Amino acid sequence: MIRNFKTAVIFAVMSVSTLPVAAQDLLARQAPIDRKMKAVDSVALSRLIESEQLESPAADLYDDWNNKYAHRATELPDSFRIDLRGFCMPTDSRVLTSNFGARWGRQHKGLDIKVYIGDTIRAAFSGKVRMVKYEAAGYGKYVVIRHYNGLETIYGHMSKQLVKEDDEVRAGDPIGLGGNTGRSTGSHLHFETRLCGVALNPALMFDFRNQDVVSDFYMFHRDRYEKEGRVATRLRGVGAEIAANGSDSDDEPETAAPAKRKTVKARYHKVRRGDTLGAIARRFGTTVNALCRLNGISKSSRLMPGQRLRYN
Ligand SMILES: [Zn+2]
Repeated sequence: MIRNFKTAVIFAVMSVSTLPVAAQDLLARQAPIDRKMKAVDSVALSRLIESEQLESPAADLYDDWNNKYAHRATELPDSFRIDLRGFCMPTDSRVLTSNFGARWGRQHKGLDIKVYIGDTIRAAFSGKVRMVKYEAAGYGKYVVIRHYNGLETIYGHMSKQLVKEDDEVRAGDPIGLGGNTGRSTGSHLHFETRLCGVALNPALMFDFRNQDVVSDFYMFHRDRYEKEGRVATRLRGVGAEIAANGSDSDDEPETAAPAKRKTVKARYHKVRRGDTLGAIARRFGTTVNALCRLNGISKSSRLMPGQRLRYN
């Protein structure tokens, strides 16, 4: 068959030299063959994706597919093996700027990695894009991918999204560009790994400093992952170089603390005759309610000249 095809081509090429007029026809006849070859490629690819989907542990974990919620916690399995083979680091940056966990009195649900505006951000595993949205007060331009291994990953603060909802992606496919959109100070990638909508510390699985996964599999146990996450932060988070020098045991408190809570220096205004709460609030760019709260007074409290009022 192939031999016949080759012979035919050689014969055709020879004919072209003697019959130049037929060259156009020959090219025209070849075009469908090229298309067919391409079709074979994409058939193989879609078969591969299909087989991954059939074996996909994600199918057992999630019973819905929506483009509405970035995450919604559902019941975690007691244990679950997450296959990390076939990963791709979402960015080649090795610089972490913030750890997963408690930060400024809130929970930081991801890892922050230094990237610059326009840096390529890649899908961590193969899967299907569930969300491509913009959230001004949060993630900025973000993408959520559900992977066949059961994880969902979130990529936040990007300057541009390069995929659409319901797109199939392969590990390593560019999905966006680094940026500083949403609630972000300085360009960085906010990267989350979630299982059944519950945020797991990405440091349990990813080692950005070494641009590698921690092992081929991460064995998730519901009763252990939080403690393991704290250890992972110590080993692979911001401040890891300090921890690596020490000899920590697992039960010690976190040494790799994220950036310190910003302390605000209290500032006061000395009340003058004729001052009102409204005028003071306007002057210092605050509100009457905030002044009352800060000073433990009510809106109807009488201000006395010389009284010190905190305004920040
Ligand atoms: Zn973040």
